[in-house]
Amino acid sequence: MRSGLVRTEAIVLSKLKYSDSSNIVSFYTRQRGKISGLMKGARSIKSKSGLATDVLNIVELFYYEKEGRELYTINSAELVYHPAAVLTDLVALACATSVAELLKELTVPHEENERLYRGSDKMIRLMDSPGADPLTLLLRYFFFILEESGVGIHFESCAACGSAITELEQVRFDSGYGILCGNCALEKRRGIKISMELYGLINCLITGKRYENGDPKLKTDLLGILETYTRTHFETFKGLKALRILGDL
Ligand SMILES: [Zn+2]
Repeated sequence: MRSGLVRTEAIVLSKLKYSDSSNIVSFYTRQRGKISGLMKGARSIKSKSGLATDVLNIVELFYYEKEGRELYTINSAELVYHPAAVLTDLVALACATSVAELLKELTVPHEENERLYRGSDKMIRLMDSPGADPLTLLLRYFFFILEESGVGIHFESCAACGSAITELEQVRFDSGYGILCGNCALEKRRGIKISMELYGLINCLITGKRYENGDPKLKTDLLGILETYTRTHFETFKGLKALRILGDL
């Protein structure tokens, strides 16, 4: 690992009180991936860095990087973007918080991924824009981060045998493999049957095509399927907490 002063953009993932005056903040940075930082004095109302580091804000960080250190002392954090509209809409807030949760759960510390940073930064801004459909954006992001994490789901071919998916009525989804063709599902006795509508939705979300006239329940069903798939691939992932809170309301 390198040593020296780091200046990087970052998304605030979580914030924890530490002592009477300080916070421990988790960031996903553009240049260093996920890091944790101690922000001394951040709980004072006079601290600009403290005010800038609310969850989901995008900030510019300055800190000194030292070999072997797990927790850095953050020198300063300047606000770059504050998703004000997201904070006034419960569904948008739950979906944007889910983006932060996925980044925190699916990435390993100090592993840089410029594409993932850009996609996550863009997603928070999109969810914050007028007329946004946060649930569709979250589903799209879910496929994106799974792909960036090396466990992407592919809709055009069977995850087990690799043959092209042709008989849509036979398609199944398995929490280990992903999409399975009818033959493999039968042979392995795995996977749940998915409707052609759900398969169509997955296709649109991955390719970025517009999805028209779908039953809104399809999207919440798909979210549940993706959470189960993610739990299978990431032992520590326990599902999206922000969405569960929304469900309890
Ligand atoms: Zn197959």
